[in-house]
Amino acid sequence: MATTATTPRPVTKGGSFLVESRKPEEVFTPADLSDDHRLIGQTAEEFVTNEVLPLAHDLEEKKAGLMPSLLKKAGELGLLGGGVPEQYGGSGLDKISSTVLAEKLSVYASFAVSHGAHAGIGTIPIVYYGTDEQKKKYLPKISSGEWLSCYCLSEPQAGSDAQNLLTTAKLTPDGQHWILNGQKMWITNGGFADVFIVFAKVDGEKLSCFIVEKGYPGFKAGGEEKKMGIKGSSTVPIFLDNCKVPKENLLFEIGGGFKVAVNTLNVGRFNLGAYCLGGAKNALAATAKYAKERKAFGKSLADFGLVREKLAEMTIRIFAVESMIYRSAGMIEAAMDAAHGAADKTQELMRVLEEYAIESSISKVYGSEALDFVVDEAVQIYGGYGFHEEYPVARAYRDSRINRIFEGTNEINRMLMVDMLLRRAVKGTLPVFAAATKLAAEVLAGPLLGGGEPKGPFGQEEQAVANAKKTFLLAGGQAAQKYREGLKDQQEILGAMANMLMETYAMESCLLRTQKAVAARGQAAVHAMVDATRVFIYDAADRVEKEARTVLAATFEGDTLRTQLAVLKKFHKRDGVGTVALRRNVAAATLTGDRYPFEGR
Ligand SMILES: Cc1cc2nc3c(=O)[nH]c(=O)nc-3n(C[C@H](O)[C@H](O)[C@H](O)COP(=O)(O)OP(=O)(O)OC[C@H]3O[C@@H](n4cnc5c(N)ncnc54)[C@H](O)[C@@H]3O)c2cc1C
Repeated sequence: MATTATTPRPVTKGGSFLVESRKPEEVFTPADLSDDHRLIGQTAEEFVTNEVLPLAHDLEEKKAGLMPSLLKKAGELGLLGGGVPEQYGGSGLDKISSTVLAEKLSVYASFAVSHGAHAGIGTIPIVYYGTDEQKKKYLPKISSGEWLSCYCLSEPQAGSDAQNLLTTAKLTPDGQHWILNGQKMWITNGGFADVFIVFAKVDGEKLSCFIVEKGYPGFKAGGEEKKMGIKGSSTVPIFLDNCKVPKENLLFEIGGGFKVAVNTLNVGRFNLGAYCLGGAKNALAATAKYAKERKAFGKSLADFGLVREKLAEMTIRIFAVESMIYRSAGMIEAAMDAAHGAADKTQELMRVLEEYAIESSISKVYGSEALDFVVDEAVQIYGGYGFHEEYPVARAYRDSRINRIFEGTNEINRMLMVDMLLRRAVKGTLPVFAAATKLAAEVLAGPLLGGGEPKGPFGQEEQAVANAKKTFLLAGGQAAQKYREGLKDQQEILGAMANMLMETYAMESCLLRTQKAVAARGQAAVHAMVDATRVFIYDAADRVEKEARTVLAATFEGDTLRTQLAVLKKFHKRDGVGTVALRRNVAAATLTGDRYPFEGR
């Protein structure tokens, strides 16, 4: 499944969106997807729709052997080996293709989760950290689906606090085996997997990673957990009781486990956002159709303003997630292309995984929260039937909830993204302090603070994006100066900073995509997208302002606070936008095709 090369884009640093501005033509958007990308998406979507979804009832009832047989079938079609290089039996998909694949597999969430555990977090550690022998032994069978895999980090007492895990690994006196002892918890695919990526502490201290096979002595998978959602997926505890693992199955180096875990999760988190994007589009499509068919008070539900408002907002949030995810995928792919020429390619590719950790966390958090919003409104529009298991949105609602919990909870990811940004600022790899100093000079200079009169067709939106960045620098910068090292203990402030960061990235990604679309096709052809962007940016700017007020009020009081709030107000002075009328236009676009209207645009 080869893919065509896409237009080269500049390599940009992760997190640089906050302190740099980009031109529309520099960002990747869904309109840039090649025929090959689209074909991959179509193959994935058709497979899940035709082969998996009809079996959903049996899968939810945990019919023995069914999910593994479907994963193997996906392997035969080449849908499992995207992350595996061709020399090891995979298809070596580029980042954009694997994003499309993840998105389109999400027709049935339990399958998407099982796919992610196998082809994502269950495969990446071997691809990036395995020796040539380990790659040759495991990757061909993992990409074909002959062997299914999973990722075992969490333990009963250590989920978010993964470094606190208790599983130990000790080398036998003859140096030939590792003896693993401990328990893993909530392992996706654990009930049927053949290969387990297990994290354990060598001599109880050095966090390390091991490849464990099902048949090793002392290995046992526990019974299936009874879950709220994604019931078609397998989630079990794993018991390691003097489990004997060959010495050559240490993955990477002793003490290198944290690096493996974190970088793997960066990829998993990014993909999780793509799965959420696909799930949200599916829920929107079903709901738009239902809203037209269902009658009340002699009309279709879709004729009511409050229903149209919901459909519009569902569409707009999906648009924001999609714009960010494909922009990030384009950035990651450009960096990976550049890394292929490096002297130490593997080392450089690992660095790329770390580089876009902020964007990966944003994909996970914003994507999962948008999906939760969308499925919640879907149930609302379905009314009483939304509460029935026979209708599709009840399952979508239940299935959505896990996304805010696994792959690092959204709270942990919020703190991570700000922490990473501040670290890069301190190290000087991102010019955040220079931007903050420039802003301070601007504040002192006074009258044109906020940008003056907006110019051009997107003048107000461009200004809102620029001011959102300044708002983050103003409020976040003041909080960082006041609390210094202690900022890490001010989680509410970090959470508000993360929200500003995500909204800012979303605002800019929507705007750049829309400007690119207008330049390519003319405003009339993409008028609903323009309207969605105007609404999103108008509302998101309010959210940014509100978060900044929270941060400033937690940082200052009295006259100093008043002065800071007055500066903030200048950044958010703008004309009103007729969001009611614009949302009606967006809803009309969704209802025209009974689906998300900006697909591939
Ligand atoms: C269905 C399912 C599948 C899963 N699949 C896998 C898998 O395949 N492999 C795997 O290794 N794990 C897996 N997990 C585990 C999952 O990653 C953890 O549940 C998750 O990381 C949260 O850990 P926890 O459950 O221990 O919650 P806790 O860490 O106890 O957190 C509980 C709450 O406290 C908050 N919290 C915790 N620490 C902090 C902090 N420092 N600051 C602020 N808030 C905090 C959290 O955000 C959360 O809201 C799965 C879980 C489920 C339910």
